Amino acid sequence: MENYKMYINGEWISGKKENSIKVYNPATGELIAYVPNGGEKETKEAITAAYEALPRWADLPANVRSNYLKKVYQLMIERQEEIAQLMTFEQGKPLKEALGEVFYAAGFVDWYAEEAKRIYGETIPAWSPNKRILAIKQPVGVVAAITPWNFPAAMITRKIAPALAAGCTVVLKPASQTPLTAIKLCQLFEEAGIPKGVVNLVTGSAQVIGNTIMEDKRVRKVTFTGSTEVGKKLMEQSAKTVKNISLELGGHAPLIVFEDANLDKAVEEALASKLRNCGQTCIASNRFYVQESIKEEFIGKLKNRLKDFIVGDGMKEGVLIGPVIDKNSYDKIQQHIKDAIEQGAKLEFGGKSYHNGISQQGGYFVEPTLLSNVRKGMTVAKEETFGPVLPVISFKTEEEAIEMANDTDYGLAAYFFTESLSRSIRVAEKLEFGIIGVNDGRTSTPQAPFGGYKESGIGREGGHFGIEGFLEIKHISIEL
Ligand code: NAP
Repeated sequence: MENYKMYINGEWISGKKENSIKVYNPATGELIAYVPNGGEKETKEAITAAYEALPRWADLPANVRSNYLKKVYQLMIERQEEIAQLMTFEQGKPLKEALGEVFYAAGFVDWYAEEAKRIYGETIPAWSPNKRILAIKQPVGVVAAITPWNFPAAMITRKIAPALAAGCTVVLKPASQTPLTAIKLCQLFEEAGIPKGVVNLVTGSAQVIGNTIMEDKRVRKVTFTGSTEVGKKLMEQSAKTVKNISLELGGHAPLIVFEDANLDKAVEEALASKLRNCGQTCIASNRFYVQESIKEEFIGKLKNRLKDFIVGDGMKEGVLIGPVIDKNSYDKIQQHIKDAIEQGAKLEFGGKSYHNGISQQGGYFVEPTLLSNVRKGMTVAKEETFGPVLPVISFKTEEEAIEMANDTDYGLAAYFFTESLSRSIRVAEKLEFGIIGVNDGRTSTPQAPFGGYKESGIGREGGHFGIEGFLEIKHISIEL
């Protein structure tokens, strides 16, 4: 078993073993690693390193920063197997999916290596003949990036790549359940020759590291992906030093199937959107609204396909659904299923869950579970389940479907299926969500903006939009 280290100011720092954080394999429950339990001291050291490295990194020509990122991209592609295995080991997703995530994560590095060269300003025609007005963009400063466990690589590169491209320096705090992929990525940042202090990694107590980051005036930007609950807390804390803050939070995505949809296509895309990462994605479809006239046919087709989804250890060939991350998630999913059935939902497929009996620290599995006759008041229709559960609710009219879909405090992703062009545009415009999949259940890609309306967050990551959050706009007024 390896003792992993934190990365601060270009040095690899150990913690005391007796005080370290244990990392478990969620498929087996076995202890796989120790990582340091960094606290206030290490967080402050990381902020100081990032603060001191900032002027030199920001002053580098854009093409030089771009070249560093290109090198990181190449290393990620070369080491794809190694990174993917580590990810499956600590997070549980099937190996093939983990490989997919490595490419997705590397895509952000590739994209922002290019974007670094396109941080354009403007000249603005002045109303006074002897004035000239410029608007230039500059890095926001030291960035703290706090990331979740469900995408241990992509949630990091989606933040760090645009931050570095913009000329910012970074302190990264990854999820305690998946710090190993983060450590591997920092090794690649180092190998790519990125100067010391530009990227720093602190592992340990979220509370202590979080509070230290939020209280430090030198941190000018916090970029967070995780639960809405923690996001709201960070937003409150950011007020004290008026930090720039971006939040990518929870979701509760509706997926609507209209009677004019191509049903086979709708089934395949619904499965892709729901079952990727065992349903543990913020953009996973969480509520399935199916038009009354095609409900039975759609459910029949889904049931047929769900048989193919083998549940097990993601390291095993053929497994399509890995373990859930921990016992809390497992209990929550079971509670959602139980509550729905008690309130009259019909179990159409699955419903079984099991523990492998090795250790309470992992080995929790849930079968894909299809429920029909689901109604509005059931927990499964109100809350983010974060598991492989497909609750089906029927509707009669387009207006009713839109109203039910929008009836939530979340607003991250929504999907719908229709063969009508006018309905595609009409419904896409009415849904109050930041990401809309029209006949498409796989919407995440480095080129496009990603983010939510309402309580799903603030700001956008990805595409050319994703670098804006790491830039300040400076107005320069010149009197001739
Ligand atoms: P979480 O509990 O909010 O944790 C996310 C990160 O925040 C972890 O690194 C965690 O550290 C840290 N954290 C926890 N409490 C903190 C505090 N008081 N101060 C500072 N940092 C703190 O969320 P999660 O359970 O890992 O992730 C699942 C959630 O993320 C779901 O709701 C999902 O929808 C959302 N998500 C959203 C997106 C998106 O782009 N919108 C993408 C992926 C996931 P520890 O691990 O050490 O506790």
